[in-house]
Amino acid sequence: MVLSQLGGSISRALAQMANATVVDDRALTECLNEITRALVRSDVQIGAVCAMTSSVRRAVNLEALAAGTNKRRIIQQAVFAELCNMLDPGKPSFAPTKGKPNVVMFVGLQGSGKTTTCTKYARYHQGKGFKPSLVCADTFRAGAFDQLKQNATKAKIPYYGSYMESDPVKIAVEGVERFRKENSDLIIVDTSGRHKQEAALIEEMRQVAEATKPDLVIFVMDGSIGQAAFDQAQAFKQSASVGAVIVTKLDGHAKGGGALSAVAATKSPVIFIGTGEHLEDFEVFDVRPFVSRLLG
Ligand code: GDP
Repeated sequence: MVLSQLGGSISRALAQMANATVVDDRALTECLNEITRALVRSDVQIGAVCAMTSSVRRAVNLEALAAGTNKRRIIQQAVFAELCNMLDPGKPSFAPTKGKPNVVMFVGLQGSGKTTTCTKYARYHQGKGFKPSLVCADTFRAGAFDQLKQNATKAKIPYYGSYMESDPVKIAVEGVERFRKENSDLIIVDTSGRHKQEAALIEEMRQVAEATKPDLVIFVMDGSIGQAAFDQAQAFKQSASVGAVIVTKLDGHAKGGGALSAVAATKSPVIFIGTGEHLEDFEVFDVRPFVSRLLG
């Protein structure tokens, strides 16, 4: 189910309840069941959905509400608030400070949009007055360094990588060292991916993180990966203590659920979304407008 359909289903469930003659426990249960189905169809992990609907129940104590209270409105507000809560783990992610050598490491599977997103992230901060730099520690995919080089050149951002060296840890450390000396205040380390979150990749991420001591690890996920999002995000979280999520490809037929699941798995906020292949197709993620749009 694509994002707009998810919003439509939830809005319909709320509207159906609004049409019920009496807003009692049964009407609330039916509404929450409908919302649960919509979220599961959109690939939100079932555990996260159950936690969300339980919270709505707790927030809306129908019996305790005084006569004349607008119960429908209260339920709608509770659903809105709980959807926001699902996307807001309650602690902001690390924000780089100008003038300090911030190191930000990107992790994610091959094809998730990691390399593209590194440059988008660099370019965004360049526009805010940072001096970003890019390190290509992806020695797994042939052509990764060329791609990063091409993007970096287009965005006029200094880069570091090697065609010869096969040890990602060595390249990452050398790159970070070089850009520290050059006073870059946002050193971005792009890493390898694989088609699955296999043990070798997770171990590589652990080693790169240990050697470069990033201030922030960003997990990049393809917005259309569906139910796989939760396990994937959790695997990366365990390898390199992910502190933020970027969801890409939300311009296509992406399902909304993956983002919600990734937040639940990493307990980290979504900070940006990718909305296209071009470097400017990048937006700051803001929970409330996103949920408003979701609910239509
Ligand atoms: P990596 O293997 O994770 O480094 O992924 P890449 O950065 O090479 O991206 C894989 C493909 O996804 C490329 O064709 C990108 O142009 C494309 N891509 C990346 N981000 C987005 C996005 O937000 N929207 C769309 N439509 N395509 C994207």
